Amino acid sequence: DKVLVTGANGYIAMWVTRLLLERGYAVRGTVRSEDKAQFMKDYFNGIGIAEKLETMVVEDIIKDGVFDEAVKGIDAIAHMASPFHTHAKEPSELIDPAVQGTVGILKSTIKNGQSVKRIVITSSAAAITSSATVSMSDKPAIFSETDWNTVSTKEVEEKGSDASPAHMYCASKTLAEKAAWEYSEKHKNEVTWDLTTLNPPYVFGPAIHDVSSVARLNTSLELWYNYVVAGILSSKDALSDSESWVDVRDIALAHVLALEKSEAAGERIVITEGGFIWQEWLAAANSLTPSPIPSHDLPVGYPEILDGEPVSDIRYNKSKEERILGIKFHTKVETTKDTLEDFATRGW
Ligand code: NDP
Repeated sequence: DKVLVTGANGYIAMWVTRLLLERGYAVRGTVRSEDKAQFMKDYFNGIGIAEKLETMVVEDIIKDGVFDEAVKGIDAIAHMASPFHTHAKEPSELIDPAVQGTVGILKSTIKNGQSVKRIVITSSAAAITSSATVSMSDKPAIFSETDWNTVSTKEVEEKGSDASPAHMYCASKTLAEKAAWEYSEKHKNEVTWDLTTLNPPYVFGPAIHDVSSVARLNTSLELWYNYVVAGILSSKDALSDSESWVDVRDIALAHVLALEKSEAAGERIVITEGGFIWQEWLAAANSLTPSPIPSHDLPVGYPEILDGEPVSDIRYNKSKEERILGIKFHTKVETTKDTLEDFATRGW
């Protein structure tokens, strides 16, 4: 079977591509430039699994019909291309590629993708809730697939470019996922495929995409680096903040399983190991001996934060994931060890 992965050079998508190739699938990955395609070919050649990898340059996912060629001869799709950064000035910077890219791939599939049976879209826990919307006094707050983040979309509607970049990102994920469900419902009599969306919170863990320097880290791993290695975000308040997370290799596996399992049809599925307090990552890093990253004095933060009852700001009900996918998740210590070892091999 041949799987189309969009945004294939990204942090999560590189792991999805790797797992697919390792399991014997053929992969067509779309990227925005030839040099990104070359990076992928070099990486997968380097680990000896490039034989069934094909790349295709798709520059502008906002344009109508850009995926028309990419979907030809494809059996399943993992749509991951979508901007994730926190420096947007205008909501449209994030919302247009998120929404139009998502609807675009569905449209192209109806037109040219008659052999496609399953489309998995990487949504986000940001489409369910956002830490910007849950106050610490509400905790722990438990969310599930029946919840939608209506706060961020409202913020963006009301404030436009004065809304926070975090709300702009959350709104882009919410609107894109809503558009996907609406489009597939509207066209359900014409389609050969069914839809699954995956809703991961923060994704951490080792990188296999092109990160030649710390400055080129993707948004979620950069945040982790800043807390756990650089100690830039080391105030007691910052380290007391909490959220939910998943290892990048586990969310990648979730994509593969969601493509394979018939029970995933028509479902949105939260994919998370569970909650964290930032201080817990520092504790995990400092618990490792010998230190996987000997060139760094890792920040110790405020260990007393963990003396209290461990409460997470935002938690998710995992029962749907357990029932349909049943992933055995990496623990914080495992992810921390592997991530620090990865950073160390880069000389960081
Ligand atoms: P990356 O930034 O590493 O990957 C994003 C991918 O999307 C890259 O291939 C990027 O291409 C592509 N892309 C971004 N903007 C555009 C655009 N305007 N047009 C075409 N392609 C674009 O991020 P992640 O791997 O973390 O994210 C992948 C997906 O997972 C996204 O949909 C994100 O919203 C979602 N997600 C991520 C989480 C996380 O914590 N990391 C949590 C929840 C969801 P290029 O390299 O050329 O910029």
